[in-house]
Amino acid sequence: MSARILDGKAIAARIRAGLAERVATLSFRPGLRVVRVGEDPASGVYVRNKDKAATAAGFDSATIHLPAETTEADLLATIARLNADPAVDGILVQLPLPAHIRTEAAIAAVDPAKDVDGFHPLNAGRLAAGQPGLVPCTPRGVMHILAESGVALRGARAVVLGRSQIVGRPMAQLLLGADCTVTIAHSRTRDLAAECRRAEILVAAVGRPEMVRGDWIAPGAVVVDVGINRLPDGKLVGDVAFAEAAAVAGAITPVPGGVGPMTIACLLENTLDAAIARRGAA
Ligand code: NDP
Repeated sequence: MSARILDGKAIAARIRAGLAERVATLSFRPGLRVVRVGEDPASGVYVRNKDKAATAAGFDSATIHLPAETTEADLLATIARLNADPAVDGILVQLPLPAHIRTEAAIAAVDPAKDVDGFHPLNAGRLAAGQPGLVPCTPRGVMHILAESGVALRGARAVVLGRSQIVGRPMAQLLLGADCTVTIAHSRTRDLAAECRRAEILVAAVGRPEMVRGDWIAPGAVVVDVGINRLPDGKLVGDVAFAEAAAVAGAITPVPGGVGPMTIACLLENTLDAAIARRGAA
């Protein structure tokens, strides 16, 4: 293995410690509310981790857990109540929602000023227009990893594998905003391997275990693996075949311990940003 390991866990710990210091200087505790509907087991773990991290950093954090049979109207009413609550700075609706609730309706119901997931169409539009707004946590976390690792972005050829609203698209916008030359690849892309091989920076967010092989990677490239996939034997792997890729890449994020911890750190950053934007830094 020759690649430098980009340690997202360590970077996230530093960000969280910095946030805790800043929160301690405020005259209020930034309020985060996570809304969970139903019993999706993975969501349970994510929500608990978010709550724990927020509380540890001094945030006023709580989870509102609604039963699986909650109607869309009831969920929207809960979101409206949180929108109106002055103690709440950030609202996150944990996905996936039960099938009878429209995800877009729930996302659009969140006050864009409290949309700490950055999924509201207004925030997505701001990002696409190059205007300031709340940015989705995972791509924000990837930008931190690249910055903290000293990766030069201006003019670099970046390939983003995946075009979801949550990761791929906002990731591409952020890289474009940082003056990369960006290609977005997806399930209809012809010759994915060739596209990836052109990348100086490759961000994989497809949700396909170890799909990106070593020979898809240009020697010395920076590889960021957003994927989190559980294999039948319980092992957690990314979208990149780590050992093969690490033999070719210049730098690479591991799974676990790469992008994952950054997502929660950036959720807290977004919540603090939203709080200060709404209340001022008093
Ligand atoms: P989605 O399923 O929403 O999107 C996957 C994207 O990958 C789509 O754009 C799809 O293309 C593309 N894709 C799927 N299969 C292929 C293929 N065989 N070849 C080329 N492109 C393909 O996933 P998300 O963006 O939400 O998540 C991606 C991964 O990142 C998952 O493993 C998820 O668990 C992980 N994740 C990790 C987070 C973290 O904190 N580290 C946070 C969020 C997600 P098309 O649009 O054409 O269908």
